[in-house]
Amino acid sequence: MTLTSLRLVKEILAKHGIRPSKGLGQNFLIDRGAIRKLVAASSIQSNDTILEIGPGIGTLTQELAQLAKKVISVEKDAKMIEILRETLSEFKNIEIIHGDALKSNYKLPATNYKLVSNLPYYITAPTIRKFLEASKAKPYSMTLIVQKEVAQRICAKPPKMSILAASVQVYATPKIISYIKKTAFWPKPKVDAAILQITPFPQPYSIDFPKFFTVVKAGFKQPRKQLVNNLSAGFGLSREKTEQWLCSNDIEPARRAETLSVQDWINLTNTL
Ligand code: SAH
Repeated sequence: MTLTSLRLVKEILAKHGIRPSKGLGQNFLIDRGAIRKLVAASSIQSNDTILEIGPGIGTLTQELAQLAKKVISVEKDAKMIEILRETLSEFKNIEIIHGDALKSNYKLPATNYKLVSNLPYYITAPTIRKFLEASKAKPYSMTLIVQKEVAQRICAKPPKMSILAASVQVYATPKIISYIKKTAFWPKPKVDAAILQITPFPQPYSIDFPKFFTVVKAGFKQPRKQLVNNLSAGFGLSREKTEQWLCSNDIEPARRAETLSVQDWINLTNTL
């Protein structure tokens, strides 16, 4: 049984007396093409372990389980767990965990795993942060459906950088694989989506990450203001000292934070 048609999704929920929860970001995939694209982008090998967040009624989970060695799916909604026990009952290689993806109430796979998910949109940024910062059990790659605009912001380059872009790009290479129309989901969300792939660097930068984030946050405090103002205020430094700091890193003090590259922020971090 494949679960993609709108009729089928509605039937399953009706049978359990459930309506999609807005609060839990429930927008179910109902488009075969979109699912196929997401699965293809994930390049799943037969010995892969896949971690999925928010399986819902198990539409994507089924497809993943046919290709991977093992699929671990973390779902917060107890009602969905009940449904999953039915829809995924034939699969022996799926582990369903009832839990919150953002909490540490479940074990991350010990092996080099891939994260694949049509994420509930309200946890996009914290989820990405959690998995990029997971020092021991970092995924090999993350292939995610997120809101189109969020995907574009994450992939932005100077002069359109943001805290979000810098905090992903200091750990990984993000890439938009393709766009997905909002009609691929039910209930239909307000905006279109994108398949975003984030590949952590095999060799992470050896920098002081908390310090990096302090510098980036200070720089972006008032994004319309010149860097020199934000940084001198943020670190209680004189204007002169701050100008010296910026210039010694080849950064014009009058520039705005959004024009700096990740390398610029790293240089500033290393010389603070
Ligand atoms: N993957 C399914 C469902 C997507 S909807 C599909 O594509 O059709 C998002 C799913 O994430 C819902 O099932 C929702 O209950 C679940 N969810 C929401 N918040 C969560 C959290 N914090 N941790 C785990 N799952 C969550």
